[in-house]
Amino acid sequence: MKKTVLVTGGTGYVAAWVIKELLDGGHDVRMTVRDAAKTEKYQHLLDVEKQSAGKLTVYEADLLKKGSFDEAVKGSEYVFHTASPFFISGFKDAQKDLIEPALEGTKNVLESVRRTPEVKRVILTSSAVAIFGDNADMEGKPSFNEKDWNTTSSVSHQPYSYSKTLAEKAAWELADKQHFDLVTINPTFILGPSLSKRSDSTSISTILDLLKGGFKSGVPNLINGTVDVRDVAKAHALAAFTESAKGRYLISNEEASLLDMARIFEENRPNHYPLPQREVPKPLIWLIAPKVGLTRKYVSKNVGINARFDNRKSIDELGMTYRSLKTTLVDQNKQLEADGLL
Ligand code: NAP
Repeated sequence: MKKTVLVTGGTGYVAAWVIKELLDGGHDVRMTVRDAAKTEKYQHLLDVEKQSAGKLTVYEADLLKKGSFDEAVKGSEYVFHTASPFFISGFKDAQKDLIEPALEGTKNVLESVRRTPEVKRVILTSSAVAIFGDNADMEGKPSFNEKDWNTTSSVSHQPYSYSKTLAEKAAWELADKQHFDLVTINPTFILGPSLSKRSDSTSISTILDLLKGGFKSGVPNLINGTVDVRDVAKAHALAAFTESAKGRYLISNEEASLLDMARIFEENRPNHYPLPQREVPKPLIWLIAPKVGLTRKYVSKNVGINARFDNRKSIDELGMTYRSLKTTLVDQNKQLEADGLL
């Protein structure tokens, strides 16, 4: 049945696919953007709307402005809160650039929802990094799952992970004993084709760096969970419309290193990109860490350390199915080429 739903951060990489999924499902979708006049930032969604059964309406809201989500939330039955800065490097002030928008934004959205009796459920785009901080946190367990919380990140160590942990915790506090449910989607590293040509999400910039030779002389052995952006969008819709959905959902498929990804790209387009052929030994990465924008603590606690993610709750309770990493990367490669980004 057709629902009125709100997606925050409509200009983002993940939000675009969530909005497409909802429009294709025939829903009335509202989305918030920071500046509605900048239609170039969401033209791809106006194009999607034309091909879909649903209707798209644009609202303005800023994570840092109190009450700015009120108008968009009023009348919405489901609120998907995706907006949050996603940078793991290149920011000046972690508190101001990452933590404040993530935390204050989540509080602002949840406070608007608390004032709006029509809202039935909030689906928060949290992250696997609210579940774990460093790969080393897995010590002694077979894998990470929804019962785990990140207890090792801080403003100075893994600040993006810290921002997502604080934001999700604040959401659970604000949703306690309210008229609506909260369900969180906790994806690992999201990859796959983008609906726009924008490349600032770390999901896109990392792959562009890899394909353009940024790691040609070697990559660190960094293992991450990965998941297709289209599967993440599907998880958001399932979390909203599966009546029995409850709690947190770790959304993750294959674990892979950057070298594993490079090998998939090489197999797909032999001798086409300046891809890395080897992993740089951990002691060397540790030595040069500050020069390549990493801290030595990060290297010690992550490089060469395995991480595994248990996605069984998403399969058992939401009926999730996952695309292979190969499909994800081949499709992302095609999109980046077609959009002239390579
Ligand atoms: P993205 O493309 O960079 O999108 C971030 C969105 O947040 C943009 O729409 C951006 O709006 C909005 N935003 C940032 N600061 C804002 C502010 N002050 N006020 C209003 N909006 C603001 O990143 P993404 O990869 O799609 O990430 C979306 C969500 O998924 C985030 O919550 C992220 O933490 C989560 N997540 C991502 C991954 C991943 O691997 N990509 C994994 C797990 C979880 P502007 O266009 O105006 O900047």
